[in-house]
Amino acid sequence: MPSILTADQQAEFIKRGFSRRSFGRLATVLTAGATLPFYNEHALAQLSRVHNIPPDAVLINANENPLGPCTEAAEAIYNVVKKGGRYNYDLTDGMTRTLAEIEGLKPDYVAAYAGSSLPLHTSVMAFTSPTRSLVIGDPGYEAGPRAALFVGAKVNYVPLRKDGSHDVKAMIAADPNAGCFYLCNPNNPTGTLTSRADIEWLLANKPAGSILLLDEAYIHFSDAQHGSDLVAADKDVIILRTFSKLYGMAGLRAGAALARPDLLTKIRNYGGEMMPITGMVGAETSLKLKTLVPERATALKAIREDTFAFFDKNNIKYVPSVSNCFMMDTKRPGMEFVKAMAGEKVYIGRVWKAWPTWARVTVGTKEEMAKFQAATLKVYNT
Ligand code: PLP
Repeated sequence: MPSILTADQQAEFIKRGFSRRSFGRLATVLTAGATLPFYNEHALAQLSRVHNIPPDAVLINANENPLGPCTEAAEAIYNVVKKGGRYNYDLTDGMTRTLAEIEGLKPDYVAAYAGSSLPLHTSVMAFTSPTRSLVIGDPGYEAGPRAALFVGAKVNYVPLRKDGSHDVKAMIAADPNAGCFYLCNPNNPTGTLTSRADIEWLLANKPAGSILLLDEAYIHFSDAQHGSDLVAADKDVIILRTFSKLYGMAGLRAGAALARPDLLTKIRNYGGEMMPITGMVGAETSLKLKTLVPERATALKAIREDTFAFFDKNNIKYVPSVSNCFMMDTKRPGMEFVKAMAGEKVYIGRVWKAWPTWARVTVGTKEEMAKFQAATLKVYNT
């Protein structure tokens, strides 16, 4: 079957270690869009729970934000709906410029996306290949590995250190020819941080031609330093940002990739779209509210710490997290616990192969976490 790839694309793929036989899959993605074969958080959350969820269920399974967008963003979204008959590119430019300014970047170092799943997938596709692997901490967010496997790249899973940080030395040692190092900070599912020194060490020691894919989906919940100055310094790093977490816009869709323009060009080859103007104005309005991040992070922290105090009181082990999710010891195959909690109408997250007796839980509202605590007391000791 003749490939629809151009001669230049074919030459580039052969250089990256793809065989002519694998062109078909790449062509599928390049023509049909990159999201279809992969998973995002919502799809992954669906895997770990039963369907037909009752309307009064507690949903703390997909790292969503029950608060939704802030009032100001919701109003801006409502007002822009009437303009939905036009593409309104300027609204995407506005969001991009505002984010660039806040992060100390030139506007062409920021690419807007409808969430961060697409740039996550396309970054992995652009920098891994049958000869250049993906390296990821374990347990880690599964979307990257799925994209890597789709293009025939090997995935190297490197256990997190005991404190939940990424073992950057082991990550570099995992493959001297890796193409992409995925580091989620704070990590999904553990909510743990990797130090700035470790991130810099990884960047300084990674193989030539590879990238650090620094996923900062949850950075706003923590007080960790943003990595954007590494982007401003033209390092081989792509940062992913999303408005699905602290900003409460998972269903509205807004996100961004921050990177050198030449890296952004590489990932754009694998997909991108017109942005929904609702997501763009919601994102820009949220960014401009200086109090939003600290207020929401502080409120969530109080609920998270209250949950941890409950665990301490009841001798339940957990990983101290700085994010909107945490791992808890279920003391049995994790999925058994997940299912028993669903029986109490509390839907918690999934289980990772590397930690089969632990499950991930998203921090919900105070009321939701009270129901989580009650259900846990009932289920945990049975
Ligand atoms: N990265 C991480 C670590 C995530 O947990 C998620 C979603 O939960 C995403 C990226 C993608 O989210 P979205 O596409 O909603 O921005």
